[in-house]
Amino acid sequence: MYRGLKVLDGHADILYRMETEGLSFYDADSKLQQSAAKLQKSGIDVQVFVTYVDPSFTPSEQLYKVLSSLHRFHTDVEKNGAVELVTTSGDIEKLIASRTTGAILSLEGADAINGQIAVLHALYRLGIRWIGITWNGANSLADGVGEERGAGLTNFGKEAVAEMQRLGIVVDVSHLAWRGVEDVLSMTKKPMVASHSNAHAVYPHRRNLPDELIQGIVQSGGTVGVTFVPHFIGGNESQSIDDLILHMEHLLRVAGPDGVALGSDFDGITETLVNLRNGEEYPALLDRLIDEFGMEIAKKVAGENLLRVLRNTIH
Ligand SMILES: [Zn+2]
Repeated sequence: MYRGLKVLDGHADILYRMETEGLSFYDADSKLQQSAAKLQKSGIDVQVFVTYVDPSFTPSEQLYKVLSSLHRFHTDVEKNGAVELVTTSGDIEKLIASRTTGAILSLEGADAINGQIAVLHALYRLGIRWIGITWNGANSLADGVGEERGAGLTNFGKEAVAEMQRLGIVVDVSHLAWRGVEDVLSMTKKPMVASHSNAHAVYPHRRNLPDELIQGIVQSGGTVGVTFVPHFIGGNESQSIDDLILHMEHLLRVAGPDGVALGSDFDGITETLVNLRNGEEYPALLDRLIDEFGMEIAKKVAGENLLRVLRNTIH
């Protein structure tokens, strides 16, 4: 809790940098943008920990790397009790009431599932409760925004999305080609999220979402997490919290107060906002939400909107 706000961040690549750079979560001077110490100071109650794998690996190799990241979470993040895994809606309520930070495990890009529903089930049993359907490329479920073809969900993708929702896994459409987002919207009335995407009407980057998809996501009961990636916010590296606020204002205008959440992408970015460089500086954004939008909207944006999706999705 930070100033009465329950705070959820829907996307950070902490595990990826631990895997690829050997960085420690608990080192006091850790180079992670979101280390244990920074997370403690950030005000975040629940952080989504993503397992992202470089798409140059084959799906089978990616599955091994996902398993390695999950092992790293259990051994190197959860070990001393500063962070605790959330797998049920009861866990969330318990952790928000405590001083322990909750962690939700997510797969960013379902390449490792590779057409096998059995792999989806196995990953669920290993604690995955949130899945980004694609990264920028194509996989067995759908095309990402970087795939020129821009196709929607495959037959297997439709089957997998339905199964995710049946199991109680949050469906995340960030990185998905727009056709795919339309497909998810037309096949289900259940809430979905775009964990780390901004408004295309404010800055026309391919990773940002047009108004009609934002409205569809919010009508599903879902929400859009604004992300701190400078190039998605304004096309260059010199962006600040002020510029991020412009995306939030637009989302609030087109989708209302249920339509905005937070998805930092810390440790997935090398360039940061000039005044929000790591988790330690998160409170500056939270203070700004209260000043800019008032307490009721700030509560929703900081955490209640993602909490609503989680309560309505995971069992
Ligand atoms: Zn991403």
